[in-house]
Amino acid sequence: MDRRHFLYAAGLGSVAMTSGCVPSARKSQPPVFQVPRLRLSRDRIVKETVGLRPFRASGPRIEKEMLGNKTIVHNYGHGGSGWSLSWGTGHLARELVLVTGVKKVALLGSGTVGLATARLLQEKGCEVTIYTKDLPPNVTSSLATGTWSPASRVCDPKVATAAFRQQWEAATRYSFRTFQFLLGMNDIAAWVDEYNVSHQPPTGQSDPSLGGEVFHLDGLVPERQTLSRRQHPFGAPYVTWRSNMMFNIPSYLHYQLSTFMMLGGKLTIREIKTLEDIDALPETCVVNCMGLGAKAIFNDEELTPVSGQLACLIPQSEVTYKLNVPGANIISRKDGIYLGGNGLVGNWDTTPKREYTEKWVDVIQQVMNEMRHA
Ligand SMILES: Cc1cc2nc3c(=O)[nH]c(=O)nc-3n(C[C@H](O)[C@H](O)[C@H](O)COP(=O)(O)OP(=O)(O)OC[C@H]3O[C@@H](n4cnc5c(N)ncnc54)[C@H](O)[C@@H]3O)c2cc1C
Repeated sequence: MDRRHFLYAAGLGSVAMTSGCVPSARKSQPPVFQVPRLRLSRDRIVKETVGLRPFRASGPRIEKEMLGNKTIVHNYGHGGSGWSLSWGTGHLARELVLVTGVKKVALLGSGTVGLATARLLQEKGCEVTIYTKDLPPNVTSSLATGTWSPASRVCDPKVATAAFRQQWEAATRYSFRTFQFLLGMNDIAAWVDEYNVSHQPPTGQSDPSLGGEVFHLDGLVPERQTLSRRQHPFGAPYVTWRSNMMFNIPSYLHYQLSTFMMLGGKLTIREIKTLEDIDALPETCVVNCMGLGAKAIFNDEELTPVSGQLACLIPQSEVTYKLNVPGANIISRKDGIYLGGNGLVGNWDTTPKREYTEKWVDVIQQVMNEMRHA
């Protein structure tokens, strides 16, 4: 009996035509997954981008320093985890601001980290002025894939301290909780099905140099489950599935910016070129969320780019999943289906390379060709 007949027999035929998990009517039968095919062709690629992840081997810098009579609270260097950790490290940075007792706060940067931190400060009654060189979409945050990946390129675990690990855990838990309250708001955050598909048996280890998670916390996102051949349509023999969160980046950043303004926030377009520019700001407490931009101003030798290219395909409303295969991954967002999979340490070049995109298209096309149904 093929899957469609099986689902019909179970009385689930009409539900089964949608993507995602269809629970079996009988308890002993495992879930069966429908995975709509991607329409992959080079002429459906509408943009290619390269973003620079702000990486520090010891992890993001969340600490206070004095600059003359100004308190600087740093919150930068989130690597491949800035979207996921934004609320959590924003919360830690907010604690450092609140102990100063200062209510008028300057915040440098309007990426996902800066906007989350600004919103959290507003929640505690602070008057926040954002100073930023650029606004979304001209920020690194707009060039991310946008999945829940709090430990992706967040540090080098051989270098990071136990204290950082604790900070990371606190930030991850805080962020995860916060995202649960953003669900359902115009899909800025959502749960989706995520599949790992391979011809090779899983090693049980994720490779940090490929963006694999360097830490893991039990009890947040559900664990991956191995799917049997009859539960999925892929041709490859090794398939796992889990639910994971994703962020619809353009609407999310728009929501963050408009909420910040609605709550009385002020915003000035200004490039900070030197420490003197910071010293000249009227506010005595300054939160630094400049991402990679903090490197030159604060002479942070540890901060380095890890470039990541993405290719965006025209969206397909029926495709709502994330797919990881060796050498490439895709994530479906409202604004497009994003293909990617690389990270070049120390690379400042933001020119997209067609050969990466073509490789990813070929790899994913192969997976589609091997699928057992239309
Ligand atoms: C390809 C790719 C995929 C990614 N995927 C994910 C993912 O799936 N999940 C995840 O959690 N993270 C992901 N990330 C990582 C994430 O995008 C970053 O960690 C995050 O964007 C960092 O945010 P930020 O606000 O610190 O920096 P930015 O977005 O770079 O914002 C910095 C802000 O500071 C301003 N600024 C900089 N310099 C100055 C200056 N001199 N004067 C004034 N203003 C200045 C900028 O204009 C900007 O407004 C990905 C990144 C890339 C590149």
